Parts: sequence; C-alpha cells; structure tokens
Amino acid sequence: MKLNIKDKFNKDLPSDPIFENSRRQVRNACFSFVTPKKPSKPSLIHVSSEMIETLGFEEFAKTPNFLEVFSGVKVLPNTNPYAMCYGGHQFGNWAGQLGDGRAINLAEIENKDKSWALQLKGAGETPYSRNADGLAVLRSSIREYLCSEAMFHLGVPTTRALSLSLSGDEVLRDVMYDGNPANEKGAIVARVAPSFIRFGNFEILAAQRDDKTLKTLMDFTIKHHYPHLGKPSKGTYLRFFKEVCLRSMDMVIHWQRVGFVHGVMNTDNMSILGLTIDYGPYGWLEDYNLDWTPNTTDSAHKRYRFGTQPQIVLWNLLQLANAIYPLIEDAGLLQDILNEYQEEVQEAYLEMMKSKLGLFDKEEDDRKLIEDLEEVLELSETDMTIFFRLLADFKGEAEKALEAVKDAFYNPDEIKGKIEAKWKIWFSQYAVRLEKESKSVAERSKHMNSVNPKYVLRNYMAQLAIDAAEDGDYSIIDELFTMLKKPYDEQKTYQKWFARRPDWARHKVGCSMLSCSS
Ligand code: AMP
Ligand code: MG
Repeated sequence: MKLNIKDKFNKDLPSDPIFENSRRQVRNACFSFVTPKKPSKPSLIHVSSEMIETLGFEEFAKTPNFLEVFSGVKVLPNTNPYAMCYGGHQFGNWAGQLGDGRAINLAEIENKDKSWALQLKGAGETPYSRNADGLAVLRSSIREYLCSEAMFHLGVPTTRALSLSLSGDEVLRDVMYDGNPANEKGAIVARVAPSFIRFGNFEILAAQRDDKTLKTLMDFTIKHHYPHLGKPSKGTYLRFFKEVCLRSMDMVIHWQRVGFVHGVMNTDNMSILGLTIDYGPYGWLEDYNLDWTPNTTDSAHKRYRFGTQPQIVLWNLLQLANAIYPLIEDAGLLQDILNEYQEEVQEAYLEMMKSKLGLFDKEEDDRKLIEDLEEVLELSETDMTIFFRLLADFKGEAEKALEAVKDAFYNPDEIKGKIEAKWKIWFSQYAVRLEKESKSVAERSKHMNSVNPKYVLRNYMAQLAIDAAEDGDYSIIDELFTMLKKPYDEQKTYQKWFARRPDWARHKVGCSMLSCSS
C-alpha cells in the first residue's frame, strides 16, 4: 500500500536532538522523535468511512496493516513519528512545558490536493508525558471519536477521527479523583487534521525567549497553512493573527449555536487553525444555562462555562498575541486586532442567534429580543436543542406557542403563573417581529432546521455507548455515529434520541459530571 507521504513538520522544523524517551524539558525545538508503544492485543472497534474516503484509504483500510498502523504496532515505512513540544496557560495560569504527552504524530499525507496530519492518541509515553502514562481509556476515546465526527457533520470546524481501537492493555485511572483507582480498557483514537499546531506551540518558544525558533515556526505555519497571506513580514504576521482571531471566533460562535461546551479551553487546547481540538470533559447544553460546565475539575470557578466561551477565546488570543509579539514589536497593532474581535464577536453572536430564530432582516430591537429570550429560557429548565428545533413549528400564533415547544420543558408544571406570563410576552414580541420578515413561513422553518440540529451527542447518549462498549457491544457507537452524520435531518428511525435527558442521567458520572481523567 503506497501512501502519498509528505512530511513537513518533522522535516522543516528543528527537532530535539535527544532520541530516548525520557521525560524532560526540551529547548530550541518544535518536537521530539518517538516510537508508539506496541499494544498487546489491538482490535478495531470502528472506522469513519468519510475519513477513509477523504484520505484515500479505501484499499489500505481493507488490509490488516491498517489496524497495525493506527494502533501503533507498526510504523509506516519512511516515516519518523514525533511528539510536539508546546506549553500553555491552564485555567488562567502559565503551566510551562506540556507537549504531546500521549499523542504521537505518525506522518503527513496528501490526498486530493489536501494535506493531513495523522496522529495517534493514547499510544504511549513521550518526553512530554510528565507524570502520566501516555495512554487513554476506552470511555474518553469513544467520546473523542464520536464527537469529532458529530461536530464535523454539524458544520463546526474540528479535528477529525479516523479510527477507534482497543489496545488490549489495561490502564489504571481514578475517574473522579477520589482515591478509587481501577483498571479500565485502554484505547487508541487515530485523529486527523491539516495540522495539530496549537497556540501553545508558539507560547513555549516565546517563554524560552527563543525568537529564532519562534520565527521558524511562524513562517512554517504561514507557508503551509496560511499561504494566501504572503511572504514573511510584520504585515503578514499581523494578518495571520487577524485570521486566527476570525477563525477562532467562527469556531466558538458555532459552539454557542449548537450548545457545545468544550470544558478545558486552555491555550494548549486552542488550534492555530481554529479547529475544535482535544475532546475531554466536554458536554452539550441540555437545560439552557449560561453558567453550565460539564467539567467537575472546573466546578468551583466555572472559568470555561458555556456563556463565557467567546470571552475565553479572546483571553486565549491575547496569550497568542503576547507570544508572537517579539516578531511584530508593536503591541498597539495587536491590541487593535483584539479590540476588533471584541466588537465582531458580539455581532457574530447576534447574527447566529438571529439565524436560530429565523430572523434575516435587520431590525433595531433584535438584540433585546434575544436577551429577553435568554432570560426566559433560564427561568425553568428548558432543553436548548429541543426548544430551538421545535421553534421552527411556530407559525406566528402566540396563543399556540407554548404548546409547540412544550416538549422542551423539564418541569412542565413550572410553566404557569409568572413564568408562563413571561413566555407569553416573549412569544407575542417574537410573533410581531416575525411579521416583519420577508421570507415565507416555509422558507423560514427550513432554514431554522438547517442551523438548529435535531440530534446532538448528549452526554448520556455517549455514556450509553460507553457502558455497552465496556461489555463488548459496539452497536450503540455505530448507531450514534450513523445518526450524527445527519444531525439536521428528521431521521424518524432515530426519534427516540430526540428527547430530553432522562432523569437517571441527571447526576450520573459521565453524564452530568466529567473530570479530566481520561
Ligand atoms: P489535556 O488537558 O487533556 O489537553 O492535557 C493537558 C496535558 O496533559 C497535555 O500535555 C497532554 O498531553 C497531557 N496528558 C493528558 N493525559 C495524559 C496521559 N495519560 N499521559 C501523558 N500525558 C497526558
Ligand atoms: Mg490537550
């Protein structure tokens, strides 16, 4: 099987001169060469047929070599796997060197004029593993695998997943960090993206005051991933920063649209291409609550709660600006771009929320209408996905509105008195506003159903897939994977998944509570 291997990152950028796999501080380098750990008894659980096609792996996937390569048994001929060196701000504080502690880049390939980096997650130790084992467990791997592909089909910029395998080895984890470690099944996800470069790759070099390597990495990133920006110059670097801001904004506005909460928006988890990356303790908003985060490790401060995600992106962009400052030496110009983000993100949020409401024309009071909606949505637990999906059925008769969206309410008994009155006021304002729209009702609802998904990967759904998979039954993984390829379609056969989170999942580990343990 001949793959079109075109390695760039490990050819053009400086490498760590040490080859052994000891944990260490790496300087003046962008990566270290490593070898994946051989799993003892690997087996394939699932593959993404879209990614097989995208990569041109149709024939390759039929050979035993496919599992060997994407579980770490064999290294592709003429390739040199490596772990990237990066740092990051974790929960607001500089954390120093982090790096690919359990991700190993296999190679970059080209297919149909596109370049893809292939990476294994959970394939063993690297110099960046710090005090951990470089491995990943089945539950978190299923979550990453399913969600990467679900996000892609929702139209959210994301890294992709090619395959999910069991390693055949056991991995010790203390799920809730409460002194109850247990052995779990080890797994490996093969991830794919045009590049896995993060904000943190730049930050670590800036922290080391290594302007030379910083410039090399910057020029590399622009040459291969932002070639339209032109030759290296201060102007090009500023345009690069502007575009990273725009792409990151686009990503986070999509998150707000579909109700995705990343959970760990540290700068090492921010892709330089504006892709959603590193699916850890993420979650999907069920009841509309701007303060919600699925990550129990962040429950005290809720830094990465749903409502603040666009502002956290700005904070992260500021860290990137600081990191690349030595190449630009004009803080004012970088600040101007950050100020633009601050204004543009408000506009982008408004436009996105308007599209969810089926509003296309410009009206003065739209911002107020949306703020009012957010206020009423929080009065009683209301399912975000179901509410917006059902809203497309609202034909403009305020009297029938609550009936149309009733399935979104977790406690229908609460929708009376003051709360009911507030809903009625909001719906009558909305009805008046809809009358001003030039689009027909049919056009409007069709459009709304193309931005308000019917199916998302709720935590409890992923958990059901995990529970079954722990017993060797992969049918739910396949069912969810297939359904989530068409999240905007009605798909009557999957109607049972268009439902509020069941009560049993309210306080269950994995459903409402997730830690960083993975
Ligand atoms: P995360 O918050 O999962 O993005 O990870 C933060 C850092 O910890 C990254 O440098 C990861 O590579 C590293 N890390 C997380 N889990 C492990 C593990 N099991 N073994 C080695 N490194 C890990
Ligand atoms: Mg990470």
